[in-house]
Amino acid sequence: MDYSALLLQSGLDKIDAQVLFSHCAGKNRAWLIGHGQDEVDPAHAKAFNPLAARRLAGEPVAYIVGTREFFGRDFVVNSSVLIPRPDTELLVELALERAGEGARVLDLGTGSGCIPITLKLERLDLDVSAVDLSPAALIVAQTNASQLDAAIRFFQSDWYQALGDACFDVIVSNPPYIEQNDHHLSEGDLRFEPRSALSDEGDGLVHIRSIISGASSRLSENGWLLFEHGWDQSAACRALLDAAGFDEVQSWRDLSGIERVTGGRWKAS
Ligand code: GLN
Repeated sequence: MDYSALLLQSGLDKIDAQVLFSHCAGKNRAWLIGHGQDEVDPAHAKAFNPLAARRLAGEPVAYIVGTREFFGRDFVVNSSVLIPRPDTELLVELALERAGEGARVLDLGTGSGCIPITLKLERLDLDVSAVDLSPAALIVAQTNASQLDAAIRFFQSDWYQALGDACFDVIVSNPPYIEQNDHHLSEGDLRFEPRSALSDEGDGLVHIRSIISGASSRLSENGWLLFEHGWDQSAACRALLDAAGFDEVQSWRDLSGIERVTGGRWKAS
């Protein structure tokens, strides 16, 4: 049997099959595409079949191979952290545009650490801190920071609680914002991700309210708060920022045209 036939016969989505097979064979996808007609090495098939079975049972590819690419870098992931999403690259880009030279940046609910690590590696001048409530997530984030050589301060913290009176120029977050009864929580890859990283077990805005209310006392004059949210939450998020006294409140669209990030600028009165 050749490689193309093995992948086809697996019953997996084509890209999933290629990613899983490349992982087993220690090759990249380009190699696989170029060698589709080669006879399969039995050792590769033996390694591939159990991984294909896991994927067919629903487990996300990122957890099976243990990594996910974000902003051009590979991040270690496991079932203690949310799998980084391409949508979140928008949040990173907006923060990079707004962070001045040497800015102090805070990421709330860092998970795999994909946001602060990317910010630091794109801009070595930034002073980056990150928090997560979950010790298991912090282990993953610290592993990524050390493997990618990003100097970040990590804190185990319930949002701002462990940060004392530290002040920041940019605060970012991709918080759990899925409403508790959303059917997506019991579908697809989300079934395997930590529920506490996805849902606030409330109306979807519980953590966003906490993040906004704590930001005013921790942002420097003209500092930015930027956070990701659900497809239908942008108007509610803008209203919360307006009510809290933020200026320049606005939302930005992701690659699918959905308002995905909302933010505002803090003007101390
Ligand atoms: N900050 C991480 C990410 O964007 C984790 C977010 C989360 O767990 N809600 O991927």
